Amino acid sequence: MNRFQVRKVAVLGAGVMGAQIAAHLVNCKVPVVLFDLPAKEGPKNGIVTKAIEGLKKLKPAPLGVPEDAARIQAANYEEHLALLGECDLVIEAIAERMDWKLDLYQKIAGSLAPHAIVASNTSGLSITKLSEVLPESIQPRFCGIHFFNPPRYMALVELINTPATMPEVLDQLEAFVTSALGKSVVRAKDTPNFIANRVGIAGMLATIKEAENYGLSYDVVDDLTGKKLGRASSGTFRTADVVGLDTMAHVIKTLQDNLADDPFFPSYSTPAVLKALIEKGALGQKAGAGFYKKV
Ligand code: NAD
Repeated sequence: MNRFQVRKVAVLGAGVMGAQIAAHLVNCKVPVVLFDLPAKEGPKNGIVTKAIEGLKKLKPAPLGVPEDAARIQAANYEEHLALLGECDLVIEAIAERMDWKLDLYQKIAGSLAPHAIVASNTSGLSITKLSEVLPESIQPRFCGIHFFNPPRYMALVELINTPATMPEVLDQLEAFVTSALGKSVVRAKDTPNFIANRVGIAGMLATIKEAENYGLSYDVVDDLTGKKLGRASSGTFRTADVVGLDTMAHVIKTLQDNLADDPFFPSYSTPAVLKALIEKGALGQKAGAGFYKKV
């Protein structure tokens, strides 16, 4: 048996992506523990159990059958860190903030199995910088694993290595993602927002700005950029609502922080409408409202 074989997975973060990645893992009959912060009020696993319940109502359905929600094991970092030691793969999917991710890595490092692969689902933060907070013994087993939303339906996963990642780790992870999870893999370099988000977010930003310039409604733009054009995607604004507007702003910030002087992508300013929606808590589908009043 390969020493990096994946039999059980921990997913850290029960938000839009973490909960749905956990759902896809149970769809594929892979045992999974889903972690989040302990809830401030009520049972400590409140954040995770609410996320698992939410999976049953989400469209398109993240679970093959709603009953499979019961197969996702709920955990919080305060009480259940020992469960990490049972997992061969840890997928971190907490909010797109470098400082929060680094804090969490320090918190969990001592509880990981000595052979565990640790991978971040970041949309585009530097995988190398994320790895540097980890002990040297873990760095060769750390990489990026970037799923797309919704993870059950999007066929692509980007894998991103650091200079320290062992080739054997990436090979084993690629074998798991393709054969157990049924996805295609692209190996991306550790550049800001990797490949798909670097190109995709530039297109979304340009579209939002041009919609504003021409006074186009969200519906019209979504028709022009989505299904009516023959694309599977539901269009720019609906996609932004599904992604989460705060997450989208973080992804834009990664470009602003790293590529402000890149002449190929001249303007990365955050659209005023996006800032205004975030300020009033309209974060998209996860908040019930975003660009569209009802999502
Ligand atoms: P989200 O906002 O839906 O969920 C984030 C989760 O992180 C929440 O459950 C929250 O409780 C937890 N969290 C917040 N602060 C924390 C902290 N300090 N420590 C530990 N946990 C904390 O976010 P998301 O959309 O699921 O994104 C998660 C990751 O996946 C991000 O890195 C994001 O860039 C990436 N990603 C998102 C999408 C998308 O479409 N939303 C797609 C691909 C990748």
